[in-house]
Amino acid sequence: MPTQPLTGSPHVHTIGIGAGPANLSLAALFEAVAPARIVLFEQQSGPGWHDGLLHEGVRMQTSWMKDLVSTVDPTHRLSFLNYMVSTGRLYAYLNAQYDSLPRQEYVRYLGWASEQLRTVRYGQRVDEVAFCDDRFVLRAAGQTLATCEHVVFGIGTVPSVPSFFRETDQSLVVVADRLAERVGAFMDVRDQPVAVVGGGQTGAEAVLSLLGRGFQDVRWIGRRPWFAPLDESPPANEFYRPAYQKHLHTVPRVHYRKMAQAQVLTSDGVSAHTLRSIYQLNYDRLLADEHAPLRLMPGRTVVGAEAAAGELRLTCAADDRRQVVPVRWAVLATGRTSAALPVTEELLSEIELTDDGEVIVEPDYSVRWKRSGQHRMFALNRARDSHGPADANLSLLPTRSAMVINSLFERTVYQLRDEHVHTEWL
Ligand SMILES: Cc1cc2nc3c(=O)[nH]c(=O)nc-3n(C[C@H](O)[C@H](O)[C@H](O)COP(=O)(O)OP(=O)(O)OC[C@H]3O[C@@H](n4cnc5c(N)ncnc54)[C@H](O)[C@@H]3O)c2cc1C
Repeated sequence: MPTQPLTGSPHVHTIGIGAGPANLSLAALFEAVAPARIVLFEQQSGPGWHDGLLHEGVRMQTSWMKDLVSTVDPTHRLSFLNYMVSTGRLYAYLNAQYDSLPRQEYVRYLGWASEQLRTVRYGQRVDEVAFCDDRFVLRAAGQTLATCEHVVFGIGTVPSVPSFFRETDQSLVVVADRLAERVGAFMDVRDQPVAVVGGGQTGAEAVLSLLGRGFQDVRWIGRRPWFAPLDESPPANEFYRPAYQKHLHTVPRVHYRKMAQAQVLTSDGVSAHTLRSIYQLNYDRLLADEHAPLRLMPGRTVVGAEAAAGELRLTCAADDRRQVVPVRWAVLATGRTSAALPVTEELLSEIELTDDGEVIVEPDYSVRWKRSGQHRMFALNRARDSHGPADANLSLLPTRSAMVINSLFERTVYQLRDEHVHTEWL
């Protein structure tokens, strides 16, 4: 549960902003080298993980073995296995024979880990980070929260919504993260068409959630030519091992973006079991009601949305063809983007940026900036273009945390092993 707030404005060795899986993993592995020298500030009032998207029955896309610590230190007290054993749930869980871990279980695991760590300050948003008098200063509502030598940004992502959706009648569009909260307002119009825009896992889960709630006319619109499954094959999984990360840093940066695009379905596709559930639910409804409630509309990019007379008209484009899809309302699962870095303009001016205005993240996850010799900044989960799809994923969390720690303490605190690599990448 939430720990006591820090009193006064203490000076800490390292502060992590955000207590999602990225920084929780870092704090867990910090224990071996510098216990009590890291504090995490988290804006949410208590433990949670994408709570708005925690629909009934949703599953993880990664193995339970890819927890906060095990792939680097399987003896760590915060392993998933220890959580299962020490909370008495192991046999009940095993005998349920899940193909993949329920997300609800992962959320509980994170809450348990954070409780053991006792280093997260919940309900504490960091509004800005400045650098003054040879230290980082973290502020909220104009007040100094704490100062520190080093900062790790683990602030995650936020929904990315096309501007025409932001400019239309907001009572007719619901960002997927808020579906559970807002769907009640549409329960009386379940017979009227609703669009789900976005063909990834979040869109698929929104479709399932609507079908499960009895919506009778769901239009699922996706950009790809088909609702493509996640590629979890052995060669696809090779991108999610430390050896591939190491290889990536030998590739000239100019090739990164194209490579990332080619690998996109290894992270952004829909889980096969979710697709099967959707198809089976649709068919079950056909059997029961002589009417299949879902229409799949792939190969379309929504390029406009106009609200009129309580209706939303979506303009879809497929090359030079246009189609207008009239719906009562729409759920937006249009992707995610890195949350904005909460740094002052002065500090930002000392950071080296890419042409896109993003921070340059070095192979050890440090941010390239003017005073990085003495005071380090690290950025987790915002370097997909340079560190591959695994950067936005849970697979390499412990490896990434270990690399940050090794770099910060300038020694090999954690030995990173990944041998027996049988793929030759170029
Ligand atoms: C619904 C969903 C399911 C996913 N499932 C999987 C999966 O099964 N396997 C997989 O590998 N990947 C999955 N991912 C992708 C990725 O692993 C997750 O997004 C993961 O949560 C990333 O961890 P993070 O710690 O970087 O970010 P987050 O989990 O987003 O955590 C960031 C935290 O920072 C806090 N924060 C932000 N700004 C501030 C601030 N200024 N001050 C204080 N706190 C702040 C936020 O409140 C948040 O708690 C999933 C993503 C989503 C959206």
